[in-house]
Amino acid sequence: MSDCIFCKIVAGELPSENVYETDDVLAFRDIRPQAPVHVLVIPKKHIQSAHHVAPEDAELVGRLHMAAQHVAEELGIAKDGYRLVTNIGWHGQQTVPHLHYHLIGGRQLQWPPG
Ligand code: 5GP
Ligand code: ZN
Repeated sequence: MSDCIFCKIVAGELPSENVYETDDVLAFRDIRPQAPVHVLVIPKKHIQSAHHVAPEDAELVGRLHMAAQHVAEELGIAKDGYRLVTNIGWHGQQTVPHLHYHLIGGRQLQWPPG
């Protein structure tokens, strides 16, 4: 989508600090990290949110999860654990309407969220 910042990152039109990339998935560091590791894992295809995933996206979403696992291993947070979270819509406080998982770790996280 032309006015989507994550589509622009995928297209290389905006800078990003990439940590992992495949044909259909990109992982890059969040611009405002909330923990020592804060990576966004996104499909290159524009999908508005996790609620907008269609049946034909099922394999892609599977690959998104495999990418998240891979990044967690590569960045050394898999053993101690981490959080994989996706915000949806207004009440979910989603600010970028392109499906993304926050991969957050490297410190003890709190629960529940606000
Ligand atoms: P949301 O609020 O939609 O769950 O998450 C959006 C995330 O994208 C936020 O954590 C925010 O810091 C991050 N973000 C927003 N704009 C940019 C950007 O241009 N580059 C990067 N790397 N992260 C961004
Ligand atoms: Zn997009």
